[in-house]
Amino acid sequence: MISLIIPLYNEEKLVDELMDRCLGVLNKIGEDFEIIFINDGSTDHTLEKLLYHKEAEKRISIISLSRNFGHQAALTAGLDFASGDFIAMMDGDLQDPPELIEEMYLLLKSETWDIVNGKRRSRKEGFLKRVVISVFHKIFKNVSGLNEIENTGNFSMFNKSVLHAFRSLKEKIRYLPGLRAFVGFRQGFIEYDREVRTDTKSKMHLRDLFKLGLDAIFSFSKTPLRICIVLGIIGVVVFLFAGIYVLIAKIFGFALLGWTSTMLSIYFLGSIQLIFLGVLGEYVFRIYKETQDRPVYFVKEIYK
Ligand code: UDP
Ligand code: MG
Repeated sequence: MISLIIPLYNEEKLVDELMDRCLGVLNKIGEDFEIIFINDGSTDHTLEKLLYHKEAEKRISIISLSRNFGHQAALTAGLDFASGDFIAMMDGDLQDPPELIEEMYLLLKSETWDIVNGKRRSRKEGFLKRVVISVFHKIFKNVSGLNEIENTGNFSMFNKSVLHAFRSLKEKIRYLPGLRAFVGFRQGFIEYDREVRTDTKSKMHLRDLFKLGLDAIFSFSKTPLRICIVLGIIGVVVFLFAGIYVLIAKIFGFALLGWTSTMLSIYFLGSIQLIFLGVLGEYVFRIYKETQDRPVYFVKEIYK
């Protein structure tokens, strides 16, 4: 059986087309399937529309969360409920073409791969968003030590062993593309062009992307801490020499009033310390979040 997981947040305009295309490809494949929609606290008519389609197609399940928990949490809910042998996850905004699931399925079925990732050959989002995303991918690839992650998002399909691996990852701050690279297995790719969102606006603002990017980097990398240490060491060396110079100046009596240098070093050291505290804070905050051990999402209702 195939499980298709799709998170939705205020996507009422897209539900009909999404449903058509997903059912189209799944019926074409011809295996048994379930589509699990996660209604991530939508405030429009997304849920009503889904329920309407569920009347006609019993293989649709809907998990309605108690409020908006965010994209990654919604996908996690889907992973927890999926019962298929092959599991696909996909955004519900049709930027990822559902038709690719057939190709992904065939690759999994022929046991070429355990995971097939959709790799974006091109994107058609706005310039700023594209730049931010590509800078993030470059940085993340370098600092995380995870290969082959560049230009992959949530769109992917994998088998049951991978699903079990996913479910065993209990961390609360979740960046699924990173976790998917982390679990290993035989990972393959198919390339596609990422569409523009047809008629609605992205639900992820730049602010959300930025937060997701920070979560990704801080949960997969200690590079920010390394940078602090290296800069700290450089600072120590520089100020060691500066200190020696100051002492020599004092001894030989050419020490000036020294207001400028004092002020500069206070500013410099003060601001570097603030940045370092911020970096530490990011990790401490995440440790705090993890130890709170709160569930990633709450389910309000399940329509099976
Ligand atoms: N989404 C969600 N919860 C949110 C934000 C988004 O479930 O808080 C869903 C959204 O409905 C869509 C998918 O996640 O199906 C991807 O969102 P979006 O297209 O806004 O993100 P982007 O493609 O801009 O990264
Ligand atoms: Mg999108």
